[in-house]
Amino acid sequence: MTVTCDIKELWAQFLEHVQQKCSSTEYRNWIAPIKVGSQANDEIVLEVPNIFVQQYLLDNYQEDLFVFFPKEDLPIKFTIAKSQVVTKKIPPVKPRQHPLQLNRHYTFENFVEGPSNQFVKSAAQGVATHPGKSYNPLLIHGGVGLGKTHLLHSIGHAILQKNKLAKIHSITTEAFINDLVDHLKNKSIDKRKRFYRSLDVLLIDDIQFLQKRLNFEDELSNTFEALINDGKQIVITSDKPPSQLKLSDRMVARMEWGLVANVGVPDLETKVAIIQHKAEHKGIKIPDDIAFFIADHLFLNVRQLEGAINRLYAFSHLMHLPITRQIVEQILGEIFQQKASRKITVEAILKATATIFELRLADIKGESRQKHIALARQVSMYLAKELMDDSLQKIALSFGGKTHSTLIHAWKKISKELEVNDQLKRQLQVIKRTIEG
Ligand code: ADP
Ligand code: MG
Repeated sequence: MTVTCDIKELWAQFLEHVQQKCSSTEYRNWIAPIKVGSQANDEIVLEVPNIFVQQYLLDNYQEDLFVFFPKEDLPIKFTIAKSQVVTKKIPPVKPRQHPLQLNRHYTFENFVEGPSNQFVKSAAQGVATHPGKSYNPLLIHGGVGLGKTHLLHSIGHAILQKNKLAKIHSITTEAFINDLVDHLKNKSIDKRKRFYRSLDVLLIDDIQFLQKRLNFEDELSNTFEALINDGKQIVITSDKPPSQLKLSDRMVARMEWGLVANVGVPDLETKVAIIQHKAEHKGIKIPDDIAFFIADHLFLNVRQLEGAINRLYAFSHLMHLPITRQIVEQILGEIFQQKASRKITVEAILKATATIFELRLADIKGESRQKHIALARQVSMYLAKELMDDSLQKIALSFGGKTHSTLIHAWKKISKELEVNDQLKRQLQVIKRTIEG
């Protein structure tokens, strides 16, 4: 059975989803101008005002598109609109409740707690209860889609709830830099600096972007210092711990001044709880065993879980069908496959690594501490941790009874090395391709 649904309806849902993810300006400039064009031969044609809009959509929302529009059945095509006049057909943008750019769904109430995020959530709540008085700055770091922005905005909401007049500003590092650039051009930079320094709370998202724009480091560093000295709260998110960011010692020290807290990948139970929370939010029922089934097959991050729920929602909503195991397999099969095709073993990793490093399998499996051999062994451990879904203990055992701390040590060492060693990076890519191909 193939799934056929109304493309326009899917598109409307996609828009609603995107609207929750981006700022209203971003939405207005980049998303709203896109129209659903003709629809024939199972193809969606999206009409874009110009190539930049198409590029923007693909660069930023490709994954999301594929969540709503099945990749294989419905290829997406683009056409450039002849007239650039934006017609009224575009779904209206609901005005944000806050002039402040806080996603209204990102609240503490909507943040599902588990061992991977309990500590960081309570730190965030502490900051929201006593802004400027507990941890300052609070730095939240962790991988993509694990809830950093969600926690950042939750802090904003909670502070505003208690004090409507609190002067809060929430901004991505990229937008912060663009804002400074604009004001530099308009010769209003001093005024803008004063604005930032007059805030009670500054929430700044994705500080890793500063790495590409180092000439703004001083300005940000000064702003941080001024605010903190005034007892004003700063919360920062980052995709890496500060020490791993390529920023000046001064900046890193500023960021480590307060509390550095990690948000990790949720365990199975937490993933199940998140799935159920999100499903409830959308008004659909997902039985326990099915929630477990989904959680067990999706392992990357929470955003991926959310994508799965959205897809199931679109399906059950449009087809008026309950969510069964069979339907889940059918609808999410594409996402699941990524895991199914990844039946990777330590043996396969060792073999591929030995080949690329021009070693014998016995060498890499042996105990030799020769530099070249030890490096190859560590590379295999790194890859095993990256590519396999088994527990670290189990993987370590497959390496001739190593402990899981040896594995983590190897992983850390190679991760660091990869940042500076392009040759190793290429070697790793070849090994990966050998294993996965
Ligand atoms: P990050 O900023 O770390 O990349 P986000 O904060 O944007 O991730 O989170 C991605 C999505 O996952 C958001 O929609 C968010 O609401 C959701 N999410 C992440 N963690 C949780 C959680 N613990 N409970 C509920 N939703 C979560
Ligand atoms: Mg984020």
